[in-house]
Amino acid sequence: MQKTIELKVKEPFIQDFQKGVPLVSKEAITNESALKEEGAIIDLVDSTNNFLGRGYYGRQNKGIGWVLTNKQDEAIDFSFFQRKILKAINKRQGFYQDEETTAFRLFNGEGDGIGGLTIDYFDGYYLINWYSDGIYTFKEQVIQVLDNLGDYKAIYEKKRFDTKGKYMEDDDFVKGERGEFPLIIKENGMRYAVYLNDGAMVGIFLDQREVRKAIRDKYAKGKHVLNTFSYTGAFSIAATLGGADKTTSVDLAKRSKAKTIEQFSVNDIDFEQHDIRVMDVFDYFQYAQRHQLKFDMVVLDPPSFARSKKRTFSTSKDYPKLLMDTVSITKKNGVIVASTNNASFGMRKFKGFVEKAFKQMNTGYKILEEYHLPADFQVDRKFQQGNYLKVLFIQVK
Ligand code: SAH
Repeated sequence: MQKTIELKVKEPFIQDFQKGVPLVSKEAITNESALKEEGAIIDLVDSTNNFLGRGYYGRQNKGIGWVLTNKQDEAIDFSFFQRKILKAINKRQGFYQDEETTAFRLFNGEGDGIGGLTIDYFDGYYLINWYSDGIYTFKEQVIQVLDNLGDYKAIYEKKRFDTKGKYMEDDDFVKGERGEFPLIIKENGMRYAVYLNDGAMVGIFLDQREVRKAIRDKYAKGKHVLNTFSYTGAFSIAATLGGADKTTSVDLAKRSKAKTIEQFSVNDIDFEQHDIRVMDVFDYFQYAQRHQLKFDMVVLDPPSFARSKKRTFSTSKDYPKLLMDTVSITKKNGVIVASTNNASFGMRKFKGFVEKAFKQMNTGYKILEEYHLPADFQVDRKFQQGNYLKVLFIQVK
């Protein structure tokens, strides 16, 4: 058992921890040099040694650790992990019972009380994401909790903590019976092929579940849909199952074409009726403008930051321009689905981007709907950065 390390909190940050903010940033403490090995238990104290919170030391891009409890007599031990995970499972009973949806987030980091750890459930398989070396030191406890629950097929893991906070290439199998991939999961009756042991991304982003459902049930019928930054084409599948006339999926990554064909195929859709393009979205905009193509619906879901051979794109700077390009190829009364997962700004600023873009294009618009994270992506009220997803359905006037 390691000794608990006392970290002194600087005056201006004391209130945050008293209020229950879970992230420990290095700016908040005076004696960072006391930290040696990740995974150590840390006690935050004020200048006169009053207890503020207990957590662990683990380096992520956002900070150097997480507070796990504000109760001085609560230990960070097996029983702690068990309580938190069981509580999270109880909150997801509706997902367990829903036969049309077999994949969801079972444990969402600080939103469920343990920053740096997420667990996704994929039809009997668990996928654990470890976001620091520090949280990884608690692997045994977490696995033990899952073992006690019993009845799983296998556990896989992603270590997202090499020096740059990226995914570490590895065999991601932990224990159980190795799965056969693709695993076909269901989401509101749609099928998606998922790979748990094939790099950082599994083929679907679970946090967009409600957006896919809205596209299928409310927007797609009879429409020509352009899906940009389409990855495996998950939005194109939803649109097609909702009765879209045609979808065009555009992604720069070569793998995206085969992956999109696969997603169409597992849903018994003839992919040849659809356009799947491996190209830079910004080149596609130029192509569409040159050929005066106009779409009924355009989905925009760029990564927060992207660098290609020709250009770099950052959502916090370039989203208005991206929207302007999109407006120019969207029909009147058409719908733009604008999404971002950039945690560095909130919905108000995102709506500001929309306002700015439409103003510059001299075009009217109406926001029809907005989406945030679904219920399985629990958010800590004291940590709004964790509430990263922002999606707007915007009608072009
Ligand atoms: N919308 C997808 C997820 C997008 S992930 C879904 O719902 O599943 C971001 C994708 O953007 C990645 O697949 C990446 O290859 C792609 N990408 C990044 N920069 C791009 C660019 N300039 N042009 C086209 N695709 C790009």
